[in-house]
Amino acid sequence: MTEISQIASRTVSPPGPSGSRRSCPVSELKDRLRRVGLRPTRQRISLGWLLFGKGDRHITAELLFEEAMRARVPVSLATVYNTLHQFTDVGLLRQLAVDGSKSYFDTNTTEHHHFFLEGEEELMDVPVDISVGDLPEAPVGMEIARVDVIVRLRRKAS
Ligand SMILES: [Zn+2]
Repeated sequence: MTEISQIASRTVSPPGPSGSRRSCPVSELKDRLRRVGLRPTRQRISLGWLLFGKGDRHITAELLFEEAMRARVPVSLATVYNTLHQFTDVGLLRQLAVDGSKSYFDTNTTEHHHFFLEGEEELMDVPVDISVGDLPEAPVGMEIARVDVIVRLRRKAS
């Protein structure tokens, strides 16, 4: 899959109206990076392409690294980590700590909650709104920034 670098180096036209998003995803991605203050380097574009080119998804650094390897994007796992955290810092991704050892990154940064299928490490969006009642008062001088609900699932024994 060398088409990533080919596409990234092709001369691209300026972004059209919002309806033409699919026609030039690389220039769209470059604009998106610039808008949040990140220089659109080749690595950021390649990783951004893998991350954002397939609709909303949840991915770990390790999985993205594997995808990058398969797509022959020359990056290290450390670069993948750094890039994911940079994207998170500027609001392009939302980080979800599902279990202690692993962070998932969500390309959908709007407020929503998750199902997590234990043992299969699969994270899914909860398709409906969840109302979270009776939240505790935030400690003095603090406010609640966000509530993340992770509903843990397991397969029924049959
Ligand atoms: Zn999600």
